[in-house]
Amino acid sequence: MVEKAVEKAEEVQRYTMFINGEWVEPRSRKYFKVIYPFNQQVVAEVAEASHDDVERAVRAARQAFDDGGWSRMAASERGRMLWRLADLIEGEAERLARLETLCNGKLYREMLGQLKVIPNYFRFFAGLADKILGDAKYLPDKPNVLNYTIREPYGVVSIIVPWNSPILLTTFSLAPALACGNTVVVKPSKNAPLGVLALAELFQRAGFPPGVFNIVTGPGQIGEMLAGHPGVDKVCFTGGTDTGKEVAKKTADNLTRYVLELGGKSPQIIFDDCDVEAAISGVVSGIIAATGQTCVAGSRLLVQKGLYEEFLERLRNVFEKIRLGDPMDPQTQMGPVATREQLEKIIYYIETAKKEGARLLYGGERPRDPVLSEGLFILPTIFADVRPDMTIWREEIFGPVLAATSFETEEQAVKLANSVEYGLAAGIWTRDIYKAHRVARNVQAGTVWINMYRSLSYASPFGGFKKSGVGRELGLEAINEFTQLKSIWVELTGQKRDPFILG
Ligand code: NDP
Repeated sequence: MVEKAVEKAEEVQRYTMFINGEWVEPRSRKYFKVIYPFNQQVVAEVAEASHDDVERAVRAARQAFDDGGWSRMAASERGRMLWRLADLIEGEAERLARLETLCNGKLYREMLGQLKVIPNYFRFFAGLADKILGDAKYLPDKPNVLNYTIREPYGVVSIIVPWNSPILLTTFSLAPALACGNTVVVKPSKNAPLGVLALAELFQRAGFPPGVFNIVTGPGQIGEMLAGHPGVDKVCFTGGTDTGKEVAKKTADNLTRYVLELGGKSPQIIFDDCDVEAAISGVVSGIIAATGQTCVAGSRLLVQKGLYEEFLERLRNVFEKIRLGDPMDPQTQMGPVATREQLEKIIYYIETAKKEGARLLYGGERPRDPVLSEGLFILPTIFADVRPDMTIWREEIFGPVLAATSFETEEQAVKLANSVEYGLAAGIWTRDIYKAHRVARNVQAGTVWINMYRSLSYASPFGGFKKSGVGRELGLEAINEFTQLKSIWVELTGQKRDPFILG
């Protein structure tokens, strides 16, 4: 259906929203367009939610939580349903990947790679659903008391995600939130809602109770409404740091809990004793993959002095040969950027870098190939001799633009790596294991990769230091993020207490 729409714009499919287990029209009756970034064709029309629809979705999630059908279901049964959902996602991986690519223009093979592992994220948390155990103890200072703790779900969790990896980033919060017994309202980006919408069919087929999983589609204001809604108990936001700050402010009135997965400006630190081939491949994966539109983009390159010029030259040779093209084509290595706004932002940063005196080594403009003229393409770009006071050193670009500089000592490398407000990830390339672990310890980042880059697992906690985020998703730790701890006290002796002292 959607595939056909790419060729014939007049046959675009309409998507309504998924609330309380049903597909519903938006109250406004308005629809917005979703556009394929490779050729600017309209691929779908999607319901534009308004305030009323947000109310409906939160109410449905609240009711589903309060009636206990999901939150108090035997945890092993919740796990079984999540496992069923995982199997359905696995069976639909190709269709879901295609929908993701049609919205965000990322390589189909990258999106398919994600869809192939996403079922295991659900299975991991399905397996944990019945292992969320409390604890019981006699308190050493209170011999007449039994104290026990239980972990309870928060209630309604809202999940707000960007366009770059919609299903994967939704899964980061969705799988643990549901495993813990919460109900959910998801707001995907207006640029890339189709994959998340397609998940709803799978929830229906898996037999989830109505209201456990809801989707509202529309612009940023819908996310804002969810963040400030008194009926939402926890907000999981993934997106830019500035938007994250707005979300945090919105939650303040209700003291709503939040997890923020925000932007990055991650350093790749290349020591002169590294495996150069492997390091080059790692740097490419950090900045070319996903056309640099990934929160963990390794967008700052720090190379030790003796290797600096040679490394940049070899990198430039690789950048020159990157194949740009249709993201659906398996030969393509780099697709377009997702939106015109994003392209303009990247061009702004390139022009700023030129003005501020960074040395342009490769790229820095749009490709001239007529085959690419309809698409939102930009050449992969390297700026050398970038100083820490320059804009492209400090600010997230979210595009294939690398800012390179050199360093002499390990201390200098760490200082440069930590010289920005972000702290999402870092890459370290060296054969010296002592140095590798020392630097990993000293670098301010939530994830550090040594002699590898851009790898994730459901079993490893993910999140940012500094302005890259608050809280952690994935790993066993995610269970703490999606439950709250209750401490229950039991008087064992019937002994009377003095009501006027803290006993
Ligand atoms: P945005 O912050 O613009 O948007 C993220 C989501 O929030 C979208 O659904 C957006 O809606 C919505 N939104 C927009 N304004 C508001 C608001 N005021 N209140 C609540 N929600 C709002 O991010 P981008 O879409 O530009 O995504 C790129 C950013 O995401 C980058 O900074 C990137 O680093 C970060 N990111 C972080 C990750 C992490 O795990 N740390 C992972 C991936 C990306 P709409 O799009 O419809 O306007």
